[in-house]
Amino acid sequence: MSETTETIFSKIIRREIPADIIYEDNLVLAFKDIHPQAPVHILLIPKKTIPTLADAESEDHALLGHLLLTAKRLAEEAGLKNGYRVVINTGDDGGQTVHHLHVHILGGRQLNWPPG
Ligand code: AMP
Repeated sequence: MSETTETIFSKIIRREIPADIIYEDNLVLAFKDIHPQAPVHILLIPKKTIPTLADAESEDHALLGHLLLTAKRLAEEAGLKNGYRVVINTGDDGGQTVHHLHVHILGGRQLNWPPG
């Protein structure tokens, strides 16, 4: 893997650094965000290295569907009966800081709109 695609999330997938992992299957991994912005703040990532949503390709169709359905399942399991927010920050203007595609699942409080 090249240095440009290696991120802290790759290290979490390989268990080289610790994370509070809450779900894993053959395609995705979910863990608690280290700086939670809400009472529930889960990060859900594909194990495949895709730097940003903008880099996803048609062959990732099923993987992206699996990510969203897993986000729904994790939100249900976290008890977010009153709603939640799913966010994919993409690229510099999108505020993405870790260049490994990830889904934020936020809930447990009233979330504001629009975001900053
Ligand atoms: P983004 O700004 O969309 O790229 O989100 C990156 C997220 O990764 C931020 O919410 C960080 O708090 C979170 N984060 C960074 N490093 C870690 C880590 N080692 N474990 C868990 N979450 C992390």
